[in-house]
Parts: sequence; structure tokens; C-alpha cells
Amino acid sequence: MKIAQIYVNQLNINLDRAFDYLVPESLHNTISAGDRVMVPFGFGNKKIDGVVYKITDFTDYPTAGLKNISGIIENYPKMTENQLKVCKWMQEKYHCFFMDGVNSYMPSNLLIKSAKDSEGKRIFYISDSIKREKVYRLTDQDKNLEACLSRLKKNASSQHKIIKALHSGPLSYKELKERALYNKPSLDALIGIGMIMEEMMEESEQTDDALQGTFPKIKLNAMQKTEFDKYQKSEHDTFLLHGVTGSGKTEIYLQMMEEMIKEGRSCLYLVPEIALTPQTIGRIKGRFNDKVAVIHSRIKDSQRFVHYMDIYDNKTKIVIGARSGIFSPFKDLGLIIIDEEHENTYKSGSRPRYDTIETARYLKSLYGAKLVLGSATPSVISYHKALNGEYQLLHLPERINAYPLPEVEVVDMRNEMRNGNRSFLSKGLFLEMKEKLRKKEQIILFLNKRGFYSYVFCRDCGYAVKCPKCDVAMTYHSTGNRLECHYCGHVEKVERICPSCGSSKIKYSGTGTERIENSLVKYFPDVKILRMDTDTMKKKDSFENTLNAFSKGEADILIGTQMVTKGFDFDNVTLVGVLLADLTLNFPDYRASERTFQLITQVAGRAGRGDKEGKVFIQTYDPDHYVIRHAKTHDYIGFYREEIKYREERDYPPFTQLLYIGFSGEDLNQVTEDCRKYYDKLLLNLESNGFSDYKKDIYQPSLSSVSRINNKHRWYILIKTEHIEDISGMIRQMSYSNEIKNMGSAIIIDLNPNTLL
Ligand code: ADP
Ligand code: ZN
Ligand code: ZN
Repeated sequence: MKIAQIYVNQLNINLDRAFDYLVPESLHNTISAGDRVMVPFGFGNKKIDGVVYKITDFTDYPTAGLKNISGIIENYPKMTENQLKVCKWMQEKYHCFFMDGVNSYMPSNLLIKSAKDSEGKRIFYISDSIKREKVYRLTDQDKNLEACLSRLKKNASSQHKIIKALHSGPLSYKELKERALYNKPSLDALIGIGMIMEEMMEESEQTDDALQGTFPKIKLNAMQKTEFDKYQKSEHDTFLLHGVTGSGKTEIYLQMMEEMIKEGRSCLYLVPEIALTPQTIGRIKGRFNDKVAVIHSRIKDSQRFVHYMDIYDNKTKIVIGARSGIFSPFKDLGLIIIDEEHENTYKSGSRPRYDTIETARYLKSLYGAKLVLGSATPSVISYHKALNGEYQLLHLPERINAYPLPEVEVVDMRNEMRNGNRSFLSKGLFLEMKEKLRKKEQIILFLNKRGFYSYVFCRDCGYAVKCPKCDVAMTYHSTGNRLECHYCGHVEKVERICPSCGSSKIKYSGTGTERIENSLVKYFPDVKILRMDTDTMKKKDSFENTLNAFSKGEADILIGTQMVTKGFDFDNVTLVGVLLADLTLNFPDYRASERTFQLITQVAGRAGRGDKEGKVFIQTYDPDHYVIRHAKTHDYIGFYREEIKYREERDYPPFTQLLYIGFSGEDLNQVTEDCRKYYDKLLLNLESNGFSDYKKDIYQPSLSSVSRINNKHRWYILIKTEHIEDISGMIRQMSYSNEIKNMGSAIIIDLNPNTLL
């Protein structure tokens, strides 16, 4: 007897366990863990797909009651043992469904078809939804162009043109048509003499994957070499590469990968966001070209499937991806690099709510791989681990070209106010901007708030315009003259009369990037300005286009939200202005200081990357804050020392872990009651399971600080504890109890979430 334990493809807490099925005789020799199968499910025996988790020879259920597996889905890629382990690990650690993990690996909605084979047996397969199109290509693509042309009659001009065009690569009917080269008789003639052929090819990939040029290997300088040697000789398998912007980290990553590929193993290179890192991706492709696959969210499922198979078959040696790239089907993963490891995009905000670094550490142990985290401003957690000896620390304290880091001037905006300057630009920054513009140098201004005005309120009664669906102030946008909620996207017309008291004294205040752009035009009328925030970056490629335009000098000033702080170099940028550091500093989150230090340091690193000296202005109302003081001297370690003290005093990570249990629903009473009920049950369970010591780590249920989003009221419980893993299993079991499952509120469990708001 063979039993298969199968997870079915349904995201439902009641079905989030393996079900036992009988393996029919005909599959005894073929089936194994990781196979995708069809099974009859439920009372109606509806056929659904699932994944074989394990094959065993026993079951706790009477075999007479077990159903038979219907069949293996023939061309569905099999999951590897390691992948199944990751799914199980995530299910337990991140309180998600097993299938959430499976769906992270696999294109999730491939169409499954069934048919009868020649012997009348029912078979299952996925229909190949990859779009193919007919293309024309040279039969001998390597032959030189002159030689090709010499075979044609001199007066066959249309044939000449076609051959010239095809010499740089195959073209489809549509592409030939677009270039006015489609000429049926000529094409037929060329096919007739065997010079070109027709072929079915997969529809072309996104063009942004195209190779942008080569990027030859650079000889490491002495400092890089020392750190690289440490890496090679180390007994550690996890490294933190701390290096200022421009210190040559990327070159080290490239050489680490080269070495790993030579050993025949694959590499994973993760970046915070694919669209925001074109320069890094260009370099990797420029060095390793066809060994590289870039996985991004715009890939269609069918394309994802092609990538999947190439990685699975070991054809792809380097996978570049954002967070979800961690779910690539590696056979032999040797190295994981997480670039800009401090970025919060590495934590998933939706189910499965995994942390990429933690998942990478787990993968590393499964594969016996190396893990390299890199940043100019490492996360406090990673740096703490490096100092503890959990990671090996590698350090590059200086820029490659020995250009000094830019001088930073901190401006106390209270003084500006006292001196009668109510503008968003301090006098110092304004004068410096004038000077740089005169010299035709470029400027980046950073303000972490999009929109025009950030508040709209009534001067008579104080009523502030809030989103009708959320407990959040509406932002005024001049584009479209509208109010927008930044939480749910709700849009309203501008209020002229106070909805509360009828007064017409509506006041707009607060500043966003739109307003800055608008005022800059007044201060500097002849200057070309580009704005970069989620409003201007909605279209595909707009980020790259803006970057290109700016790097070509088509604009003098780039103003934007945190997008402008990302890792790209512009030689001609000599001035950076942080317009209001306090925006992020005063954010109600224990990581606000860390986040602000990172943002300021990152954006400051954009100045003075060429041979001209850079300068940075930080405008703030809190110039003595330790974040500002240490950002001024580019002193990460100084910052870290103060920050870690604060974390220890208040029991925040890395000294504890946070487990957020959130409740939401439309009925406020219900949500409140559910949250309280959960809390009581949690305390009881801790008691009865011998975890009384942990009761002090559970915080009272409370209303979330954003108490309503999209008409859903929100309550939460916070657990702040040193050893969350001790009680995690118990909490998980609780979630599966009927009492909790059947609560009216939606429950979210999030380990070390990005935000507690
Ligand atoms: P980071 O990743 O730390 O910001 P990069 O790797 O981008 O730094 O290096 C900054 C610049 O210095 C790049 O233009 C890079 O090509 C160049 N560079 C890196 N290593 C060397 C080296 N050993 N010799 C000369 N130039 C180098
Ligand atoms: Zn009013
Ligand atoms: Zn809203």
C-alpha cells in the first residue's frame, strides 16, 4: 500500500493540512514527493490539483475511506525537496498556508487540461500558454553580411534590405511590416534559395532586458582585495559587507559570483526593486550576459514558466530578482547576495509574510550556500549579528576613487523661521543651488511626501478633511485638482465649504513634492526640473526614462520621494538637499531613526560621485538629534552605537522579536470583542502550556493608530519577546482552533512587520 500526503491548491485555513490519498497501482513506480497531482476532493469529488508532500506506507485513517489520486499532471514542474521544506518552514514561522509557499514558487494559475491517451487512460497536463509567433531568420546567422549579400542579384533591392535587417536578428511578420520590409515574393524567394527560414519563436521578452553593453572585470584594489580574501578564507558562511556608497561593493559581488559559477553552482542576486536598480542589473548582465535571468513582477505567468524551467534545468547561472526571486527553483544554489540589505521591501507585507533575509539564511543551510548581505547603512539587526560574530563583517570604509564623501551642512529650520524665511528652502541651500545651477551642475532634492498639500482643514472649527473610508488625512494633488487618500486610493473633489460648520475658510497646508516642484519653477524660472514619485512613475519605464534624462543632463534639478535616494551614480550631481528630515524622523515607529539615517546617508551618497566636490544640506527642526549629528559626519558606527542602546533599553529588536496579531472588520464592536477574546484565550493557553513567563510579553489589545482603513476597523495585540519560536507553535495551533477560525474578524499574524500602524 502506498499513501500520498497531499496539500490541495486551496487557500483556506480548514484545508491547510496534508490529506491522505491512496496511490493507484499504476503510479507506484513513478510518483514521489513534489509531484503535482489531480485528486477528487470534497463530497462532490470535484477534481482539484495539489502537491505531494510525502509518500508513506501508513495512514491514521481507515483505508476504505481514502480516495485514489486521479493522476500526475504530466508537464508540471516537480517541486524539489528543498522547496517543500521551505514551504513547511514558512507555514510554521510566518503563520501562512502551506499553499502560499507553493504558489510563491510556481506560476499559480496555469490551466490544467485532461485528455485520454492512446490506451484510453485519462492524463492531465498543463496547456502551454506561451505565446509563439512566426519569425524569419537567416539560415546561417553567423555568416558575414557581405558574403550573404553577394549571393543576391544586384537589383533585388528588397531582398538586400531584408537580409541586412535579419542579419542583426530574427524579425516577426509584425516587425517586418513596421519597418516596411514585408514583401511576400522577396521573402519566398529568399526561403527558396535557402538563405532564410521561417521559425516559431516565443514572443519576445520585455525589451528592458536587452543587453546594454559589456562591463569587463576590474582588478580589485588593495582594500577590496583584503575583504575578498577574508570572504574566501572565512569559516563563516554569512557575511555583512558594510561599505560606503561608491566603495566598490558591486565589483566584489561580481567576483564572488564569478568564482561560484566556476564551481558550477548558481547564484541569486537580490535587489530591493528591479525597476529602481537598472544600473546594477546592467553591470551584472554586462559581465555575465546569457547566464543571467532577471525575474520581475511584470513577467507574464507563461514567461515565468520559461524562466522557471531554465533555472530548474541549471541553464541560468545567475538569477536577479526582487524579494520573490528567493523562490527560484535552484538545483545547486551556491551564493545568495542581498544588495541594500537594509531596505524594507525585503519584508513581505502580504501572505506569505516572509522576511527575505531570514528565508535566505534558511536556504543557505539547506543548500550549503554562502550568504552575503551588503549595504552602506546596514540594518541595526544585521550589524548587531555581525558584531556578535554570527556574521563575518567585511568593511570598505572609503570610496574607490578616493573622492571624499560630501560635506554635510545641517540647517536649523527654526532659525530660518526666526529670520523671517518661511520658504521650504533655507537661505544656505537656496544660495548653493543658485551657484550650482550657474556652474551647470545638477541637484537632487529629497522630500518624503508626495502630493501638493498634506492637510486640508477648516480655520473656523478645525475640521480636518479625512478619507471617508480611512482614519487618515486627505492629501491635495494639483494634478487633477483632487484630494487623495494615500492609504486606500480614494479620490474626492476639493472641498470649498467645511462639511462640519459650513464655513468657507478652508485652509491648505503642509508640503509635498508637487508643491516643491511648483515653487521651484517660480524661484528658478529657466531651470528644467524632473519629479520622481509614485504619481509620476506610474507608467512602465518612466523611472528609467527619468533617470536617463537626468543622467544626460536634460534637467538640472531632480526632486522626489525616497526613489531619488536609490543607488545610482550621476557624475554631475554636486548638491543634495534633504528638505525636511523630520518627516521620517517623527514617524511613530521604533525604526524611524534607523530609516531616517539610511535615507539621508543614501541620498547624500548621490552627491560628488564624479571629480567635482559634493555638498549636502539637511534641513531639520531637530538638528541635535543623534541621527542628524551622525549623518552629518557620515558616521554609521556612531549612529549604530546610540541606536542599539535605545533598542536595548526599550526591548526592541534585535533584543526581542515582535509578533503582530491584527484584527479587522466592518463592525467595530465585533473587532474589539474578537481581539479581546483572542487575548484572553492566548493568556489562558500560555498558562496551561507552561509558558506563564511569557505573559508579561503580551501587550494589551489596542486600537491601531490608523484605526480604520478602507472601512475596516482595526485592533491589534503585540507580542514582544526574546524567544518567539518557543510559543509560535502554540499560537499557530490556536489559530486553527474552531473558536478562532470562526471569528468574524479577519486575522493577520505578522512576524517583525514593517509597520505597526
Ligand atoms: P558600490 O557598489 O559600493 O556603490 P561600485 O562597485 O559601484 O561601488 O563602485 C563605484 C565605482 O568604482 C564604479 O564605477 C566601479 O566601476 C568602480 N570600481 C569598483 N572597483 C574598482 C577598482 N578596483 N578599480 C577601479 N574602479 C573600480
Ligand atoms: Zn468648519
Ligand atoms: Zn482611504
